[in-house]
Amino acid sequence: MDTKTFKRSLQQSENYHRRGFGHTQEVMGVMNTEYQSSLIQEIRHNHYRLQRGNVTIRLAEAFGFCWGVERAVAMAYETRQHFPTQKLWITNEIIHNPSVNQRLREMEVNFIPVEQDIKDFSQVESQDVVILPAFGASVAEMQLLNGKGCTIVDTTCPWVSKVWNSVEKHKKKDYTSIIHGKYNHEETIATSSFAGAYLIVLNLAQAQYVCDYISQGGNAQEFLEKFKNAYSEGFDPDRDLVRLGVANQTTMLKSETEEIGKLFEKTLLKKYGPTLLNDHFMSFNTICDATQERQDAMFNLVEDDLSLMVVIGGYNSSNTTHLQEIAIEHQIPSYHIDSAGRIGPGNQVEHKPLGKDLEIAQPWLPDGAIVVGVTSGASTPDKVVEEVIEKIFAIKSV
Ligand code: SF4
Repeated sequence: MDTKTFKRSLQQSENYHRRGFGHTQEVMGVMNTEYQSSLIQEIRHNHYRLQRGNVTIRLAEAFGFCWGVERAVAMAYETRQHFPTQKLWITNEIIHNPSVNQRLREMEVNFIPVEQDIKDFSQVESQDVVILPAFGASVAEMQLLNGKGCTIVDTTCPWVSKVWNSVEKHKKKDYTSIIHGKYNHEETIATSSFAGAYLIVLNLAQAQYVCDYISQGGNAQEFLEKFKNAYSEGFDPDRDLVRLGVANQTTMLKSETEEIGKLFEKTLLKKYGPTLLNDHFMSFNTICDATQERQDAMFNLVEDDLSLMVVIGGYNSSNTTHLQEIAIEHQIPSYHIDSAGRIGPGNQVEHKPLGKDLEIAQPWLPDGAIVVGVTSGASTPDKVVEEVIEKIFAIKSV
């Protein structure tokens, strides 16, 4: 379908809003009270360091709420204020943070129910208002809501829209989009809905497999089995890997996205030669600044002599998981938690080791002087980071 034309006509509809409702200052005041933290401000002013007793906290120099998330949450608050009596829905968690989502529930923002991985929009009525989250919504969802005639408030981050524009360009020129991301992540689902032919690769190893197939050929059936659920309908690896464009989920590990882009470029260069490369490969820089800054800050932080690292963010938050990966690569004991409630009672923490289920570590804070690195994903308010730091101080009886 012509997704570009659909999007354009949606944006011109009087039921569609993507710029807020003029209550920004009021809303920011409320958000500052609910999400900002004076302790975190103090640490920022103190060169991202705070020592109390035998505990030194080292904060990453970029962490927490990104611009796109702050904007989406503010728009959701504004929507509530602007439509005080109408039923409000959101198609998914607005961001991957339990406390923010809980706050929205308290404001009577309803989450679209999900049954066996399928969203049930049957309760949404034409007089309702539906918010699309920061990581966007698929074309099919937008069409459905538009068809119902309800009011749509689109908080999709402009960085995500930029990726959608890239895959539109691939589609227009008949290039297959190679999307570096997680096939079941909402942002990637939305991005792929704008693409023509597409293939989603999770990491460098999968990208290498695809490049080997391009160079040497292989078993198409095995290929399709390996990438089950991660390609467009009717995808044929022998036909659809000739002209490629690279795009990404905005929160993937930046260095990996770059490496994947280079790998495809090199593979196609080798196969078709420099003069024909532009007929076979296109790439746009769509790595979001916030993701990049948080990852760079984490690379700096892990150079310090840290006793351990605490990474705070939703367990389904892709950018948070990547921050934890960096700590693990540097062999620093790392604890991924989604709220301060995971700490205690006593010197224990319930945390999520990378790729595993929740587990309890006890004791988790070593005796004596410790240096604790702290960072948080783009969906985590400063207030949550403060609560975590205060609990660490409390355990060490500072
Ligand atoms: S992480 Fe980047 S793309 Fe995602 S919401 Fe924040 S600014 Fe936007």
